[in-house]
Amino acid sequence: MNAQTCLKKLEYVGVLAFATVDEDGAPQIRNISAIHYEPDRMIFFTAKGKAFCKELLTDGRVQVLGYTKYKEMIRLSAKAVSVAEDEQEKWMDTIFAEQPYLKNVYPGDTRKLAGIVFEIRDGEIEYFNLGVNPIFRESYIIGAGNVAKKGYVITEKCIGCGKCLKNCPQRCIEPGKPYRIQQNHCLHCGNCLTVCPAGAVEKRA
Ligand code: SF4
Ligand code: SF4
Repeated sequence: MNAQTCLKKLEYVGVLAFATVDEDGAPQIRNISAIHYEPDRMIFFTAKGKAFCKELLTDGRVQVLGYTKYKEMIRLSAKAVSVAEDEQEKWMDTIFAEQPYLKNVYPGDTRKLAGIVFEIRDGEIEYFNLGVNPIFRESYIIGAGNVAKKGYVITEKCIGCGKCLKNCPQRCIEPGKPYRIQQNHCLHCGNCLTVCPAGAVEKRA
C-alpha cells in the first residue's frame, strides 16, 4: 500500500465525506463527488457561495474520508487551497467532463460564475483495513505532509507481566524487554494501557 494506491481507492469509492470546522468551531461534513484525481493530489469543485467554500478559504484544514467495500478506511488530513486563477477553468472543465451529472446541476456557463476549484497537495493519508486478520494500518504522506504519531507505546517501565498481550484483541504485542506493540496491527483500543499494572503504556497524541 502507498499514498498513490490510497488515492486510487478513494477514486473508486467516488463519493467522499469532506469535513471542515466552521467559524464557531463546530464540525461540518458533506459528501463531494466533483473530484478529479492526479497521481499525487486531489482537485475538487464547489460553489463560492457555500459555507464549505468559506471554511476552506478562511481555514483550509479538511479531512476527507472514504470507506471501501473491503472494509478499508482511508482518511486524508490536509490543507486545501484554491488553484491558481488561470487554471480554474481548465480544472473545472476536466471535472465536468468526468462527472456528466454536474451539467445538470450547473447548466451552460453557470459553473464559471458559481464555481471554484480547490486542490489538496500536501497531507497525511491514514489507511486502516479492518477486513484482514490481524487488522492493518499505515500512514503515508503526499507532498509536504507530516505523519502524526498516534496510538500507544510501551516504555522501559514494563515489568514483563504479559497482561497487555493477554487483553489485546489483535494479539499485536510482542514479549521482550520491554514488550513491544506492532503498530501496523494496533486498533488503538487502549486495553493495554488500562490493564498495565506498571503504568508502562503511554498514549501518543
Ligand atoms: S502489562 Fe505493562 S508491565 Fe505487563 S507486559 Fe504489558 S506493558 Fe509490560
Ligand atoms: S491499543 Fe489495543 S490493539 Fe493496540 S496494542 Fe493495545 S490492546 Fe492491542
